[in-house]
Amino acid sequence: MIDKDLKIYDSVCTGCSACTEACMFPDESGINPIQLIINENGLNVPRINKVTCTECMKCYKACPTEDKIFNSDVTFDSYKAKIGNCYFGYSLDHEHRFEAATAGITTEIAAYLLDTKQVDGVISSYQNEDNDIITEIFTCSSEVKKTRGSIYRQVSALNGLGEKIESGRHKKLLFIGLSCHISGLKTLQKANKYLKKNVEFITIALFCKQTKTEEFSDMERSLLGAKPNQKINYRGKGWPGMTRVEGEKSLPLSDIRFGLMWGSFAFTPDYCFSCSDPIGLEADISVGDAWLSQYSADKIGSSLFVANTSKGDNIIKEMEKIGKIHLKRETVDNLLASQSTSHIIFKTSYSNARNALFGNVGAEDDTPNRYIKLIWWIKFNKKLVEWIFRSKIVTIIPNIILRVYAKISMVVFIRIFKHHPSTDSFNET
Ligand SMILES: Cc1cc2nc3c(=O)[nH]c(=O)nc-3n(C[C@H](O)[C@H](O)[C@H](O)COP(=O)(O)OP(=O)(O)OC[C@H]3O[C@@H](n4cnc5c(N)ncnc54)[C@H](O)[C@@H]3O)c2cc1C
Repeated sequence: MIDKDLKIYDSVCTGCSACTEACMFPDESGINPIQLIINENGLNVPRINKVTCTECMKCYKACPTEDKIFNSDVTFDSYKAKIGNCYFGYSLDHEHRFEAATAGITTEIAAYLLDTKQVDGVISSYQNEDNDIITEIFTCSSEVKKTRGSIYRQVSALNGLGEKIESGRHKKLLFIGLSCHISGLKTLQKANKYLKKNVEFITIALFCKQTKTEEFSDMERSLLGAKPNQKINYRGKGWPGMTRVEGEKSLPLSDIRFGLMWGSFAFTPDYCFSCSDPIGLEADISVGDAWLSQYSADKIGSSLFVANTSKGDNIIKEMEKIGKIHLKRETVDNLLASQSTSHIIFKTSYSNARNALFGNVGAEDDTPNRYIKLIWWIKFNKKLVEWIFRSKIVTIIPNIILRVYAKISMVVFIRIFKHHPSTDSFNET
């Protein structure tokens, strides 16, 4: 986050790179005074060269976080009311559905929009064989399908994008990213005249309750017996899929040691606790996993997705009509349950407290005690699980003990919500 005094707060910066893309005044050698660097926590964050900076404030205007942190009035009920038409479905291309992160809906939509010329490019990210994260503008439908899969790392999806869009003379683009990327794109569009005037975007967000730091991948590599910095395929090969590295062992995503890192928020960057849009409602379409018991028998790919705008809904219905995707209407309550309603309530409540206690920014205000307890519970679990992994004790603890621990920490999390007298929402008091 960049504030009015151009002070940068790393703890709540998502590294989206909207600020570096908004900068309009490069120095004599053509370098923008604001650039991404990797900080001591291994995360991409911006730094400003005070000598060459003209203080035009474009970076401040493009930063999506300040607005949210100090003006967030999201509540669970207002969030729930915004959720659009919910669907269950999957790509009808069997191989694609099997290889994709969940069920191939995202890149199937991308390929369809390119083939029908509804967009002239798709902005999508992938990991190359050297383990670098690349964000590219794809213009060919067979190429974009290569970006399938989930990247559980920080992706600076907007970095270098302005130049690529201008030089490709793109007019209508599909942008795929997390909700923090979509927010960055929207604020960047307001700050960047070229994008505002010349480019129309369709957006797809992935549901996301947390991403992970590079340390998480290191821990996964050590469980997989992989080489340092070897590329990990986090998903794919059916649903919910395998975590694997080329030539080494694969483990199911459901492996308890992976599950523990997700359930405890271990190796989750602080900025994820500032997020109040876990389902990606700012996008035209948002896509996630179908974590519901009625779909658990499927081993190929099952997705829940939401059309948040009529533009998004029309695309989904067109694709069903021509036999690209299987589609069935789902309810909002099932969609929330699939993501664990308690987690969605957590992420759509009391952003002030989350920013103060995870990001050390701002004040807690009138946060109920119960919510504060929940935050401390999460912080405690996060630290403990990180320690278990860093010290390698995890390799000697029997799976049964890890499972019991994971269950207890989850039950406490959920019970803190359930004990509330009115409903399951904190916000209704
Ligand atoms: C960090 C992260 C957290 C997630 N958390 C949840 C969750 O809590 N609940 C849930 O149901 N689903 C979650 N998902 C979404 C899920 O893993 C799938 O990405 C989603 O269901 C789309 O599947 P698909 O088969 O349609 O995608 P595919 O057709 O395989 O296409 C995947 C697309 O996602 C893009 N992509 C992948 N990772 C990133 C990234 N980090 N940043 C930007 N773009 C990316 C790729 O470029 C590609 O365009 C998460 C995904 C990520 C990356």
